Amino acid sequence: MNDLKKSVQFMKGVGPKKSKYLEKIGIYSIEDVLYAFPRQYEDRSKMKNVMDAKNDEQITIKVVVGGSIEEKSIRKGLKIYKVPVKDHTATAYAVFYNSPFIKNVLKRGDIIYLHGKVKRGFGQIQILHPTYEHVDERGKTINRIVPIYGLTHGLTQKDIQNLSMNVFNLYEKTINEYLPKDTIKRNRLCHIQYALRNIHFPSSVKALKIAKFRLIFEELLILQTGLWLIKNKFNHNKEGIVFKETPQVDQLLNSLPFQLTNAQSKVLKEIEKDMESGKVMNRLVQGDVGSGKTIIALISLYKAFLNGYQGVLMAPTEILAEQHLYAAKELLEPLGVNVELLSGSIKKKRKEEILKSLEIGEINIIIGTHALIQENVYFYKLGLVITDEQHRFGVRQRRILSSKGLNPDVLVMTATPIPRTLALILYGDLDISIIDELPPGRKKIKTYCVDEKKRSKIYDFAKGEIESGRQVYIVAPLVEESENIEAKSAQELYMELKATYLKDFTIGLLHGKMKGQEKEEIMDGFKKGEIQVLVSTTVIEVGVNVPNASVMIIENSERFGLAQLHQLRGRVGRGEYQSYCVLVNYSKNPLSKERMKIMEETNNGFIIAEKDLELRGPGEFFGTRQHGLPELKIANLFKHMKILKQVQNEAKVLMNEDQTLSLEKNLILKNKIIDQFGKNIEQINL
Ligand code: ADP
Ligand code: MG
Repeated sequence: MNDLKKSVQFMKGVGPKKSKYLEKIGIYSIEDVLYAFPRQYEDRSKMKNVMDAKNDEQITIKVVVGGSIEEKSIRKGLKIYKVPVKDHTATAYAVFYNSPFIKNVLKRGDIIYLHGKVKRGFGQIQILHPTYEHVDERGKTINRIVPIYGLTHGLTQKDIQNLSMNVFNLYEKTINEYLPKDTIKRNRLCHIQYALRNIHFPSSVKALKIAKFRLIFEELLILQTGLWLIKNKFNHNKEGIVFKETPQVDQLLNSLPFQLTNAQSKVLKEIEKDMESGKVMNRLVQGDVGSGKTIIALISLYKAFLNGYQGVLMAPTEILAEQHLYAAKELLEPLGVNVELLSGSIKKKRKEEILKSLEIGEINIIIGTHALIQENVYFYKLGLVITDEQHRFGVRQRRILSSKGLNPDVLVMTATPIPRTLALILYGDLDISIIDELPPGRKKIKTYCVDEKKRSKIYDFAKGEIESGRQVYIVAPLVEESENIEAKSAQELYMELKATYLKDFTIGLLHGKMKGQEKEEIMDGFKKGEIQVLVSTTVIEVGVNVPNASVMIIENSERFGLAQLHQLRGRVGRGEYQSYCVLVNYSKNPLSKERMKIMEETNNGFIIAEKDLELRGPGEFFGTRQHGLPELKIANLFKHMKILKQVQNEAKVLMNEDQTLSLEKNLILKNKIIDQFGKNIEQINL
């Protein structure tokens, strides 16, 4: 067995008890010690003269113990021990709390390093509860940059510092390089031994930087190449449907009232090419709100139909599913396509009929919600699976839906703009198409962030718009009033506006707790223009399309994520009219003002997503563990985007030459990948 794989209990000083504690921080083997990276560092390498010590400063000094230790009882339970120390510039006192043993450790004449916080006062220089070390002590943790580890009960910094130092002293030479030589050369990476030593015990700030870069690079490289390995597997193993070319699609395109944008045409071509090839399509279509993803989905479904296959389109909400249904019926029914809806609120009897005709192939295209992934849903011949707004569906749900056919092609549509580098990681098994262009003639949505004091002005403005024929959305963060949360509820707002500012108009209320039937009626009324003002929660966030609506007012806008505000804003500006978005901010927090300002400044979803990430951090969105991927110990997908880019270039170079990383020179990397992803590498999917 490789020595590094041995249990950490083989190390001196680690017994059964200590090893239990070590397990708690993920250390089982000797190798784990090497990869338990410090949380932070303390630069104790710069030594000061005692005289120069400033109040409240953290310093390291080299001193001699100058006399006997004074013991003082301050109050019950608190004893202090004052150790006089001096260098050639001045005398100071090292002050320890409740540490009687110190008398046995520090003796007059000992030369020691001290590191700690300075207190100056009453003519004395004190260093409070410092770390100490005798100058001739092995291990040296003071006169250098010292690693600080994440701890758990039962372990001290010294425990882990000593443990890693021991591991290095004994095993450093047995750590083998696992990145290919060329990779190291091309990217100017340091050797793994250097990297690990300096991540734990940096010989200088620069060495630490070099070590960090190498370790971040390798972690991301293993993740990215691993994901691409998996992807190749998926693609090679499965026989997909080979769809025929379909000139009817071009006829349909010619009959549309508009021309596809270049971006739409490009994406549609990519999809058609996938569908016509024998590999199973796994494609993600990213496009900002309003970029026209629906038409692309519908045309793809039409292509499946023309080939004698059924297609399914799953949306996250009933409102959205219904909207897709209308669009699909309008576009495709005249061409002989039978389109149906399946959602939770459809009556049992009707549902049974639908399921029956889906199973015998009478229905060509079915559109719906989660109801589609229930067990009792069978297809006659499913060829294309589309999920819209995929961030709301889990991977599992997508899988269940695909499993209802025989290796159907899969298309995932999302309006969540993710920088491409990240998408390559997060959707490792998907090819990516981006619709990076809006249909022509769209006016920029004018966005204003206002203080709640200006509300009456805003509603005056809304009035004006309604009077000139437009419609208005008003969004609140909550459905109903809450005792615990200081924020507007849709219900409250609805009552308020009906009684005050907007009493002369027809107002509708919409939220997720309403029955399907009720929601449908309200939505219908708004679409037809009978309802002029729609007060709602975020149920309207995705997909709703009413081109006559020109104003979006968002109350308590500070409570929403930027990406979410952007989605909401995307409900207006869908027609020919100049549209407006007003963010009513109730928070005095400067950060919240800053966030709203970004919304005022740009309409570009990608920029907003990046800023949002920057301000909020990658958080749960980029937590890789939930996807069953190896944990990132040092790399951060957002913070290290630039390194990630470099990694992706390197991964491409490697895999262009050796798609399965099976060449002798790449095997060490491949083994490391398998080691990191675990045995389930073939089952992992994103
Ligand atoms: P999203 O990408 O947000 O799902 P939609 O597919 O709902 O966007 O499209 C938004 C609106 O733009 C719809 O009314 C649609 O008919 C229209 N549209 C789509 N493509 C074009 C185009 N190329 N030119 C003009 N209008 C378009
Ligand atoms: Mg859409």
